[in-house]
Amino acid sequence: RTVYLNGDWVDETEARVSIFDRGFLFADAIYEVTAVVGGKLVDYAGHAARLKRSLAALDIPMPVSEEALLTLHREIVARNALSDGGVYLQISRGAEDRDFLYSDALRPTFVMFTQARAVLDNPKWKTGIFVVTMPEGRWVNRQIKTVQLLYSSLAKMEAKRQGADDVLFTEDGVITEAGSSNAHIVTKDGTLVTRALSNALLHGITRASILDLARAAQIRVEERGFTVDEAKNAAEVFLTSASAFVMPVVAIDGQPVGNGKPGPLTARIRDLYIEDRLANAI
Ligand code: PMP
Repeated sequence: RTVYLNGDWVDETEARVSIFDRGFLFADAIYEVTAVVGGKLVDYAGHAARLKRSLAALDIPMPVSEEALLTLHREIVARNALSDGGVYLQISRGAEDRDFLYSDALRPTFVMFTQARAVLDNPKWKTGIFVVTMPEGRWVNRQIKTVQLLYSSLAKMEAKRQGADDVLFTEDGVITEAGSSNAHIVTKDGTLVTRALSNALLHGITRASILDLARAAQIRVEERGFTVDEAKNAAEVFLTSASAFVMPVVAIDGQPVGNGKPGPLTARIRDLYIEDRLANAI
């Protein structure tokens, strides 16, 4: 692959970042992932806007203009002839001798690479996935998309050891989100319930989009916390992310959700998302 590193296009084997980079030493970095379908960027505006919010929250300067950011996204897709997959970008505060305190004048380290993957033809979409619940163990500012993903990574490994595909994090009996996606339930009366935005969860771009589309389609939406028991007894449970769009959950802690098959409202929301967001991909 050709990757982007601080203004240069280089082969992935040539890209080098300092061992003193604060992304490496302190996880002092933020990231974004934007889906690509048919060579086009899906929900790009939301990802670009969240990138700015994450940088502002950590007081890291935006390394390029908004126009340049879009151009870089388009160029990395073109240079890698990427049809389906994602664009990963990461911006760290920069590199200097190791110290908890950082200088103001650091130059951010900005890297981008592509990953090819069948976004729409994910086989799990048809069967749904199994999840297990685990206590929340991440830091409190989960609305900032930082690269501190160690707890999520360990939790997903543990879920895999237990024969599951992903994890649902719980805090005070309420589900915060999944390992790398937002979690939603459909109640038996057909209401889409999703946790309200706060620092407890990442403000998913796919989450925001499906809520807009659901409301426009007259689907009842409630933004509130829901418990593990509510999820286990819900008609449907699904996850949203830029990597998998809308993914049905068919079992929680070994207990089937609904009839143990992906549900109809999940399918409808996935169709609404794909139809609208692919038509508006850029
Ligand atoms: N929550 C977490 C913890 C995530 O890492 C992600 C992104 N992979 C999401 C939610 C979903 O966000 P988005 O829809 O913007 O990809």
